Amino acid sequence: MAFVGGAESEVQKWKVPELKSYLQSRGITVSQKRKEELVELVEKARDLSLEPIDDWEKPEDVIVNKLQTKEGSLPCPNTLHSDWTSDFSDFPNFTYGDMYAYLINKEGYDHESLKAYKSFEGYRLFWDGHVLKLMKNKNLFNGYHYVKFGVKPTEREKTQVGQKPTYDGWIIIQSDGSVYTAHCPCIGGADGACRHIGASLIDLEATLRENVVITCTGRKCTWKQRKRTHEGMTKGSAIDFTKPTLNKEKKEATKTKV
Ligand SMILES: [Zn+2]
Repeated sequence: MAFVGGAESEVQKWKVPELKSYLQSRGITVSQKRKEELVELVEKARDLSLEPIDDWEKPEDVIVNKLQTKEGSLPCPNTLHSDWTSDFSDFPNFTYGDMYAYLINKEGYDHESLKAYKSFEGYRLFWDGHVLKLMKNKNLFNGYHYVKFGVKPTEREKTQVGQKPTYDGWIIIQSDGSVYTAHCPCIGGADGACRHIGASLIDLEATLRENVVITCTGRKCTWKQRKRTHEGMTKGSAIDFTKPTLNKEKKEATKTKV
């Protein structure tokens, strides 16, 4: 601890949430920092007279604002601990068009990227089976449908997660299938359009689409966890770089063990 002459500086008296919010409002990352480090950063930011970012909202306010509707404010999905199910049989018809309409207004998405949505980072996460949990609440809230998700971060992201194995967020869908709002606790999740929300929307759409098919055979319509195609890293030496050849015997090539 950097006590000068035993006197506690003003910043050292601040509580951790105050320190964090001071830094976050100035665009400084606070995850996995100890209190002493936060104090040090705040002192530096004050020395530099860093100003808060104009459109910054406190994380608590972001959620409160998202839950506002014309009919009053909705309960936060994180506070609901019961009646979650993976049975999506009576869920509104959420389609790719609804996902497009929601994401097109968000930063980082445009018509081209949405048209080629299989190149999304969110699509990759979905395809690689990173959506570990997708559930809906059996109850409606002012007519809104609640979905919650758990998405496993990529290897690269792991350091940002803290203690949790997944990013646990939520999506609120209106009865016509359109997305009302969404939230993810990751750094990019405040605007409701991070890759974890993207992956969950794609998974939701795929689940509902499969359900239409499955309904014809009379089976129950539930979310099922998709198979992960790979886990972790693959050694460069284990990757098969040879061209796949049709109807030809493979020459001496090293093949990836899956
Ligand atoms: Zn996220």
